Amino acid sequence: MHDPNCIFCKIIQGTIPSKKLYEDDDVLGVFDINPASPVHFLLLPKRHIPTLQHVKEGDSSLLGKMLVLIPQLAEQQGCGDGFKTVINTGPNGGQEVYHLHIHVLGGPRPWKRATI
Ligand code: 5GP
Ligand code: ZN
Repeated sequence: MHDPNCIFCKIIQGTIPSKKLYEDDDVLGVFDINPASPVHFLLLPKRHIPTLQHVKEGDSSLLGKMLVLIPQLAEQQGCGDGFKTVINTGPNGGQEVYHLHIHVLGGPRPWKRATI
């Protein structure tokens, strides 16, 4: 369920502090520690899944739940005018933290970084 060396598992377990915007039994939403845009949060499954390449057929409802949540959370964060979603996968995908997460970026442009 959790990887003791994973920074996001530590956030999920509460051993590393974070600014949370959403939590249920399966999913956690936290603001990114180094935001690339005025609104930048991450949605993570509570179960340790390293990358999008590790998802299985049985993860469909979890992933669907996350996608359904995103526009609701984005709206709550003032991103009714639109937002960007990003999943970095693996070394060539620029992934830095190997616990699956969806970036949600929004707010007025210009943004601090064009890419994440
Ligand atoms: P990746 O490159 O893996 O898609 O993105 C990892 C993201 O996690 C980065 O945007 C980075 O700023 C964020 N991040 C790294 N460490 C922490 C942390 O301890 N807390 C939070 N809230 N975000 C983190
Ligand atoms: Zn993890």
